[in-house]
Amino acid sequence: MTGESHHQSAATIYIDGRWRPAESGAEFDVLNPADGSALGTAADGSEADARAAVDAAAAAFASWSGTTAYERATCLERAHTLMLERAEDLARLMTSEQGKPLKAARNEVRYAADFLSWYAEEAKRVYGATIPSSRAGHRFLTMRQPVGVVAAITPWNYPISMITRKVAPALAAGCTVVLKPAEQTPLCAAAVFQVLHDAGVPAGVVNLVTTSDPGPVGDVLLDSEAVRKLTFTGSTDVGRTLNAKAARTVKRVSLELGGHAPFLVFGDADPRHAAKGLGLVKFLNTGQACICPNRVFVQRELMDDFLDVLVQRVTAMKAGSGMDKDVSIGPLIDEASMAKMQRQVKNAVEHGAKVLTGGERLTDPQLQGGQFFAPTVLTGVTPQMDIYYEETFGPIAPVVAFDDEEEAIAMANDTTYGLAAYVYTQNLSRALRVTEALRFGIVGINDINPTSAAAPFGGTKHSGLGREGGPQGIDEYLDTKLVGISL
Ligand code: ADP
Repeated sequence: MTGESHHQSAATIYIDGRWRPAESGAEFDVLNPADGSALGTAADGSEADARAAVDAAAAAFASWSGTTAYERATCLERAHTLMLERAEDLARLMTSEQGKPLKAARNEVRYAADFLSWYAEEAKRVYGATIPSSRAGHRFLTMRQPVGVVAAITPWNYPISMITRKVAPALAAGCTVVLKPAEQTPLCAAAVFQVLHDAGVPAGVVNLVTTSDPGPVGDVLLDSEAVRKLTFTGSTDVGRTLNAKAARTVKRVSLELGGHAPFLVFGDADPRHAAKGLGLVKFLNTGQACICPNRVFVQRELMDDFLDVLVQRVTAMKAGSGMDKDVSIGPLIDEASMAKMQRQVKNAVEHGAKVLTGGERLTDPQLQGGQFFAPTVLTGVTPQMDIYYEETFGPIAPVVAFDDEEEAIAMANDTTYGLAAYVYTQNLSRALRVTEALRFGIVGINDINPTSAAAPFGGTKHSGLGREGGPQGIDEYLDTKLVGISL
């Protein structure tokens, strides 16, 4: 790290180009979820810090929005280079603070950096249009302009990429930003902001307020007239509340919320390939991703073959600290999450589900300091069980049998969520038919990684509003201005 750094103290608030502690002086501890040990402290920001951050972002908006797209692109390219140079440090910090295995953390840092370079390029392609007028001697044109100050609120599960996914398109568009990261992962956020600082992003353009108590800071951001846009990734409940608050000042809003991804395996699929795919995407980040499958629908004739491979793979997964080689199951983020896993399994079993593997907290002595839940496969899951409708956000794969395509589609769509869905089949017509019928924003066909900085990610129904990534991702930070001209 170069220049000023937040590492010496709990100076994790970054406003107007400077690291500083909370105005109140308060701090909070940051824990390693793998063993409960203290990892460091963060500044515990409150309303005063949030207001200062909004003021700085508002003051910087005129000059930043007046820079050329090429200047903004250069800043983002430098940030991209620096993030890759620091990739190993960032990945290790992420594993310590959030818990995912180091290999997954390295992947996330690369994914995070992709947004910086992709939007550095996209900044140069913010085009307007000329529109033929029906009136002689009259012309129309459109310009696309940055919406203004952006409030960004991000979650703990992808503590680095969820920041660049918002900040990169916002900066590319010419917006300035105040970001409030999750209370579980303030150090990752500070490390990303150090990258932006060192890349030469001017003072006031990006501002960070860490806090242990998101409500008051969030309220300042949402009530501010200067803040013209809210971008949020997190739970559907919180997103809904923030959306209602944002409505009071009629902000632009984009929301990436919860998911309940169906994973459909048709009788013509390769059961081994499908089971391998499920094992990877279901247990990604220990099931703590919004695109993790939440119900697995398998055509009856393939069930035994599919389960054989799945159970074998799941049973072989090793849980532990993400720093240990060979670990694929990290800790859950907190006790509340552990309690939810235990409740969902208990409720499913009470209603007749069978636990094929896992189903309980892991109690090996070396796992005592963290919350580790055994990777679990449940069969015989029915709509009477909580897990059939409720998001799990943990390492439990509930499996349901189906008989025909129509039934599978109906069951898959029977959810208030609409983020990701997965279809395994060798039949192209079926793949397209089913994809068109699924009411989800993202569909993977024989594919468990339908995400990229270049592609629009987002949900339908209670999974959210708007898209992140791709050309759509920058639209969220731009207003269209219509200009009529009488010649
Ligand atoms: P999760 O269940 O994944 O922790 P949350 O929706 O609770 O998801 O958290 C996502 C983000 O929303 C975090 O940054 C968190 O601090 C923030 N958050 C939670 N409650 C509020 C609130 N009342 N106002 C503003 N931000 C909030």
